[in-house]
Amino acid sequence: METKLRRLEGARPDPEILREAGEIIKKGGLVAFPTETVYGLGGDALNPMASQKIYAAKGRPSDNPLIVHIARKADLYEIASEVSEQAEKLIERFWPGPLTLIFQKKDKVPRETTGGLSTVAVRMPGDQVASAFIQAAGGFVAAPSANVSGRPSTTTAAHVMEDLNGRIEMVLDGGQAVIGLESTIVDVSVPEPVILRPGFITRQMLEETVGKMDVDKAIISPDSGIRPKAPGMKYRHYAPRAELTVVEGDMAAVVERINALVGECQEAGGQAGILAARESESLYPAGMVKCVGSRMEEGQIARHLYEVLREFDETDVTRIYSESFADDSVGTAIMNRLLKAAGHKVIKV
Ligand code: AMP
Ligand code: MG
Repeated sequence: METKLRRLEGARPDPEILREAGEIIKKGGLVAFPTETVYGLGGDALNPMASQKIYAAKGRPSDNPLIVHIARKADLYEIASEVSEQAEKLIERFWPGPLTLIFQKKDKVPRETTGGLSTVAVRMPGDQVASAFIQAAGGFVAAPSANVSGRPSTTTAAHVMEDLNGRIEMVLDGGQAVIGLESTIVDVSVPEPVILRPGFITRQMLEETVGKMDVDKAIISPDSGIRPKAPGMKYRHYAPRAELTVVEGDMAAVVERINALVGECQEAGGQAGILAARESESLYPAGMVKCVGSRMEEGQIARHLYEVLREFDETDVTRIYSESFADDSVGTAIMNRLLKAAGHKVIKV
């Protein structure tokens, strides 16, 4: 199949392109589209065949549910059977935006879309292209991240083409995703809301709105064998081709250890890559250094993390050593994705 690539400007998206993209979805086809978090691989959320196609195009296990994207708050009540008072407060503050909420689903959402679950994940993106596309597509677009399963999520249309060219009908290019990491997920289908996946909307921001909130234990101690409540969190996502190790500790000691590891790697005939912050990138004399952004601006690091991991995939490095980042605020999400990419291989110095 030929994948059409269409550029769409955020402020005034071309109505003809939107119509064309919307028609593909209504006919059961697939369109990748930009959002503020990462690119999504969209299909009609109410059409079980479309959801099956999404799983096939990504090579994704079918027990890993999709997120239903909407463009109008009112549409939530079409697909969620119960919306708690706390959910209403979160929606009021964070929608449209990078927050996904889990609700009990209505019958019209097929189990193919929810990975067999009786709950449905819903998000209303803030990105203007995403919103216009969802409306053109009929209002309910199921989408996981637009990457082949097991590769880093995509933050540009070029990355989507790398992974999905020939497997889907269309890619909408809306430029680089501003946030760069997947949405925060909160389960509001239970009496006490729980954070299932950290993201740009931090625990502190959520707690300011609805009071104290728990984090799914499987996220805090991922090796403990506890089954995560967000099924996707159990898979080894975001994996670069080279083996990735995160080195954690005092900055001077981290730099020293990474330099030693690079030396060992090269002596053994390997090629070493280093993922570093702007502040320390010049401290590595050997190996291929890639800068992910400044520690003073976590947003930059979030935006570039997947891009840098993909860039390493284009090289012949056999090992990647990464600095670690502050584990608070957006840093919690950055470290969550980085540690998953590393399969939790961490050296503490
Ligand atoms: P992705 O956008 O690729 O990160 O995929 C969406 C993720 O949302 C899945 O991997 C799940 O972890 C999560 N998710 C979707 N629906 C549900 C649900 N009903 N309950 C819990 N987690 C969900
Ligand atoms: Mg994903």
